[in-house]
Amino acid sequence: MYDIIIIGAGPAGLTAALYALRANKKIIIFEAKTFGGQIINASKIVNYPGIEEVSGFDYATTLYNQVKKLGAEIKYETVLRVEKDKTVITNKDKYKAKSVIIATGAENRKLNIDGENKFIGKGVSYCATCDGNFFKGMDVAVVGGGNTAIADALYLSDIVNKVYLIHRREEFRGEPKKVEELKNKKNVELVLNSNVVKINGEDKVESIEVENTSNERKTINVSGIFIAVGQDPKNAIFNNVVELNDKGYIISEDGVHTSTEGIYVAGDTREKVLRQLTTAVSDGSIAATIAIKEGKDK
Ligand code: NAP
Repeated sequence: MYDIIIIGAGPAGLTAALYALRANKKIIIFEAKTFGGQIINASKIVNYPGIEEVSGFDYATTLYNQVKKLGAEIKYETVLRVEKDKTVITNKDKYKAKSVIIATGAENRKLNIDGENKFIGKGVSYCATCDGNFFKGMDVAVVGGGNTAIADALYLSDIVNKVYLIHRREEFRGEPKKVEELKNKKNVELVLNSNVVKINGEDKVESIEVENTSNERKTINVSGIFIAVGQDPKNAIFNNVVELNDKGYIISEDGVHTSTEGIYVAGDTREKVLRQLTTAVSDGSIAATIAIKEGKDK
């Protein structure tokens, strides 16, 4: 019997663990892939108060080590189901706790176009900082208009020969300051009001087909395409214990409680106005504190 089961070892889940362990609670963290969540792919974080600049990998590793040092038990198992009585069923076993914190984040959205699945790892990537170096001196495309796409395009522009940034609208969702920086890069070409409709190649990516809002198509020769069109949560497995909105995010009126008593939510996986590192760690600390308080008499 655990005090708290935490699902997800991203910044929200690890912060919840940090707070729970410092309160001497018996916890276990489940992670399906690797610790760190999405932030591990950020080349640099420059908007975390008190830290001028840090790589996502260094940040996530430090947080992970901090939690491990406190004795955290982390199991790399995939959670399949959570019951109302706080039993958590993974692909390996069954576990029981007084409280559960869901901190599963979100996963990369796909374009769902021809060639996308076929060329994953052969020119199609969802992580510029992981794969950018494979494209040294080549031409690549980045798709998206949010902060991730902009950061990816900036990062890649220092490594590759040329970056085409393809965005479906004229205006960017990402920070104007970063957009300005991008516009000043000599080897970045903005392809606006356009969608990528097909990825071509034999064994690896050779070109992409782009269609603009006037339905004009053109082919751009690139060796790689970095898709950064946002994330989707993966909460369908929890819909017996939590309420989801139309986009699949967990609804929580106060940002912590779900529709089931003793099951809490933290981080990007919940409905919220700002998905950032700062809000993820804030969620994690609050969720753990409330879970500890409300689990005391159980
Ligand atoms: P995002 O902000 O949701 O942006 C996704 C972008 O992809 C949007 O520009 C969207 O276009 C476009 N898009 C979505 N679906 C598409 C499709 N099917 N085809 C073509 N384009 C599509 O996602 P994100 O950039 O990954 O950022 C996620 C969160 O993390 C945001 O809150 C962001 O601010 C944060 N973040 C922060 C930093 C930082 O350093 N501060 C870095 C990275 C991410 P529309 O604009 O037309 O909808």
